[in-house]
Amino acid sequence: MIKVCKFGGSSLANAKQYRKIKKIVKEEEERKIIVVSACGKESRDDHKVTDLLYLCLAHKQYGMSYDDILKEIEDKHQRIIKELKLDYDIKKDIVRIRQLLDKKANSDEIIAYGEYLSARLMALYLKADFVDARDVICFNYDGSLNIEKTREKFLPYLKSRNKIVVPGFYGSLPNGVIKTMSRGGSDITGSVLANVVEADVYENWTDVSGIYVCDPRIIRDPKQIETITYAELREMSYMGASVLHDESIYPVKEKGIPINIRNTNKPEDRGTMIVAACEDKKNIGPITGITGKKDFVVISIAKINSSSEVGFLKKILEVFENYDVSVVLVTTGIDSFSIIVDKEDVRNNMYEIANEIKVSLKCEDVSLYDNLSLVCVVGRGMRAKKGISGRIFSLLGENGINIRTISQGADEISIIVGVDDENYAKTISCIYERFVK
Ligand code: ADP
Ligand code: ASP
Ligand code: MG
Repeated sequence: MIKVCKFGGSSLANAKQYRKIKKIVKEEEERKIIVVSACGKESRDDHKVTDLLYLCLAHKQYGMSYDDILKEIEDKHQRIIKELKLDYDIKKDIVRIRQLLDKKANSDEIIAYGEYLSARLMALYLKADFVDARDVICFNYDGSLNIEKTREKFLPYLKSRNKIVVPGFYGSLPNGVIKTMSRGGSDITGSVLANVVEADVYENWTDVSGIYVCDPRIIRDPKQIETITYAELREMSYMGASVLHDESIYPVKEKGIPINIRNTNKPEDRGTMIVAACEDKKNIGPITGITGKKDFVVISIAKINSSSEVGFLKKILEVFENYDVSVVLVTTGIDSFSIIVDKEDVRNNMYEIANEIKVSLKCEDVSLYDNLSLVCVVGRGMRAKKGISGRIFSLLGENGINIRTISQGADEISIIVGVDDENYAKTISCIYERFVK
């Protein structure tokens, strides 16, 4: 039996958190592979080391001094080193980060230092083997993960009788150059390692006792989900439930390895299990989770008879492809199409894109709306119950919330409604109150 345990930033914020991790890891022999994030926030107004490293890069770019930021990074780690009496010279790393910044080196290598330092300190503290992610987590040149090569590189380390600590969030390209993942990527490292060692469980330790039905920042004390399927969680995390990186699901799903979300601060809680399929012996409710995101833009295109114009939608999508903008959702009417994209992705060229659609599709009626939130209602139980979508729509109507777009996947496990940004939290709380509570 082997377990891969990933600890998020808040679990490594100070010496007290390190002690909690040690207790958790020592409790079970099976907790053999430990993946760590960079040192996170100790309190609300503290800073994550990864954010500080990004800030150094920004200061460098604008010719501003980053001495104070590097000092903050050094002090944070120095406090942990002192309190835990570790024999580690952090100054050497700070010198190295400064050299990399000064010579404008690969910025990923600088950003990866957060995870690297956490893993070095944690390995010392646990008396475990440190295995650098640059030697084992392998990317292809196109940025995708090479799981086969990762397996080949990592499996020899498993022979060690010690526990193994690996930094999350980065790996290397075939030429050895360090590459980081997208934010929150340590979840992916844990998942990939669980895949390659065929772990029995992938434990993801964080600061909440599992996945809540809704974001706890919107609903106070929401109910907690006991069991959820990969498919449901994929919908939830793609649409905003930030508890787990959405790309971390595929590697474990491929091997049918369950994910167990656990709380480092309350290890006695059982957390949430994420599995391939649930037996649902209990009569489950229609809704497993409600999630969403703000700040989308809708580009609506209407043209008479466009539905019978072969290739019309393809031509619209090509415009987005030309601008390298990924499309989040497409909803269609008879002679109209709405393309929904992330506001951030079209910040600089929203009007250019709309104009190009007008010209290349010979269509006058192109409008923009940049105040959209998407709320996603997820539940394997919806398939079996008729009329859930109708009930949601009338509930929102009763509460004066105007629905701008509607979309339901063919597998009927999610319904997405688009509402104005100012109605985002209200939409989630109405659905929660009626269907979950
Ligand atoms: P870590 O640093 O451990 O990776 P994250 O901050 O990435 O932790 O994820 C945990 C956070 O996700 C929680 O503190 C919580 O605020 C947030 N969160 C958002 N939606 C949910 C949800 N549906 N269930 C639980 N937590 C959620
Ligand atoms: N440290 C990285 C971040 O802040 C990766 C992670 O924590 O998973 O995004
Ligand atoms: Mg995270």
